[in-house]
Amino acid sequence: MAATRYDLPDVDAFTRPYWDAAADGRLLIRRCGACGKAHHYPREFCPFCWSEDVVWEPASGRATLYTWSVVHRNDLPPFGERVPYTAAVVDLDEGPRMMTEVVDCPEAELRIGMPLQVAFRAADEGPAVAVFAPADEGAGPA
Ligand SMILES: [Zn+2]
Repeated sequence: MAATRYDLPDVDAFTRPYWDAAADGRLLIRRCGACGKAHHYPREFCPFCWSEDVVWEPASGRATLYTWSVVHRNDLPPFGERVPYTAAVVDLDEGPRMMTEVVDCPEAELRIGMPLQVAFRAADEGPAVAVFAPADEGAGPA
């Protein structure tokens, strides 16, 4: 019997568009039609003004690193096989702050405010999960 995994998100009818987009390598956020603010994680109403006039919107995938913690020990499967990994909080260009993981970056090169670009880690089971890698500086649109 396979060990219980703690990294697979629950997908329901409300969040299915998010996970479908993730499978295509696109990050979706939610934006409020009443106050104009974007938020993440996805909620059915705006967390700023409580309006239910909230729609999905493709995010640019650009973000900056707000803070991080390198995890050296986690006994919950499958994280034990992944340590060390960089748990992080990033600021999306659209405004929302997002809990994620930074990949492809040695710990010594992590910097607050460093530019990041979304990537998606395909799972052998369950939906793809958004992670962030260092952006190629100067490569993207200004
Ligand atoms: Zn709002």
